Amino acid sequence: MTATLIRRAAYVVTMDDDRRILRDADVLLRDGQVAEIGQGLEAAAEVVNGAGCVVTPGLVNTHHHLYQTLTRAVPQAQDALLFGWLQTLYPIWARFTPDHMFTSAQIGLAELALSGCTLSSDHLYLYPNGVRLEDTIAAAQEVGLRFHPTRGAMSIGKSAGGLPPDGLVEDEAATLEDMVRVIDGFHDPEPGSMCRVGVAPCSPFSVSRELMRDAALLARDKGVMMHTHLAENDEDIAYSLAQFGCRPGQYAEDLGWVGSDVWHAHCVKLDAEDIDLFARTGTGVAHCPCSNCRLGSGIAPVRAMRDVGVPVGLGVDGSASNDAGNLVAEARQAMLLQRVANGADAMSAQEALEIATRGGADILGRPECGRLRVGSRADVAIWDVSGLEAAGSWDPAALLLAGPTTVRDLFVEGRQIVRDGQLTTIDLSQVIARQNEMAQNLSAAL
Ligand SMILES: [Zn+2]
Repeated sequence: MTATLIRRAAYVVTMDDDRRILRDADVLLRDGQVAEIGQGLEAAAEVVNGAGCVVTPGLVNTHHHLYQTLTRAVPQAQDALLFGWLQTLYPIWARFTPDHMFTSAQIGLAELALSGCTLSSDHLYLYPNGVRLEDTIAAAQEVGLRFHPTRGAMSIGKSAGGLPPDGLVEDEAATLEDMVRVIDGFHDPEPGSMCRVGVAPCSPFSVSRELMRDAALLARDKGVMMHTHLAENDEDIAYSLAQFGCRPGQYAEDLGWVGSDVWHAHCVKLDAEDIDLFARTGTGVAHCPCSNCRLGSGIAPVRAMRDVGVPVGLGVDGSASNDAGNLVAEARQAMLLQRVANGADAMSAQEALEIATRGGADILGRPECGRLRVGSRADVAIWDVSGLEAAGSWDPAALLLAGPTTVRDLFVEGRQIVRDGQLTTIDLSQVIARQNEMAQNLSAAL
């Protein structure tokens, strides 16, 4: 039995059903769960001093391409729109090996952990040179994050009217077979699961209608979740209208891609009818504000979505289009962007934090994460607000207005994976050196 008592935190932002924020409170973690929250708790446990700190649920990242940490800030892709950006990067990604996937995933997950994330999904849709989904699962096991990898796919290459080069697309039957293999091998549906696998054809412009449909049937047969990119920018909408004769919402509905077991990344260009469809069906959205800014895609209508009950979570998206992977900074960006679009009262700091915690957990099918209440999983972030960033703050619990962008401590399933701002699980400087060497070699071979 392992137990940790976080004692006398200045604030505990619970994100429970009443959104309680407690002062001078304790949180007891035991056997992977939150065992008690209150004041003056006593227990046989390792004690962590919470003075001068804000305690929140661990943040949840709902969209990423971890492998892209190896192609941050590529000069030729720095100023391109989505399609041009992809066409620059595809040939580089085609040279990736299992080693590249493992190391780049470690980097991405480490960055997430240090910015407060305890649960991340990943969308891996490239399988060149013997790459397999488990290359990233191994990285998550080493870093210690709760992980929802999705088996992505691309099947329509350039010669068939798609965007990716033919060398990067896979045979559809083989893809479906591999989806079954990784679900059977790695998906754990139990409460407290550290790994759940999803099914994720890359996007309407890189896979066929048949693969979208068959992947949905497979996912429902296996009881796993489904994920893809949708309605990311104007080019994406134009492609849908030209190729399928309908908007992305209609396309998704026709192929079985709506429901509470589905979440779509971006959705910047959903119209009122699409938003209504998502609300009626409980279809989730992974909002990726920095990526949308970086690629000039637009401002996702998150206010309108939440007002009618569309489930929304937050994603940093791949590090080739962000290029950072700091999840708490992403939450601040989400708040700011809704204010740009809708005014200063459009989204509070607490609402943006809610999207980044319980919002994300809910769209990943993990209502036992993303909030702190008795019985929830012991995924906890501790933010030191006694330093520079929050000096002079009248409301330290409003972390996204004035607070640190890295955690002091982080617990996943009750296990401490960040202590005093350092990962306890991997030697980060070694991984960084390895990643930089790989990036240099990739760039030299261009
Ligand atoms: Zn993406």
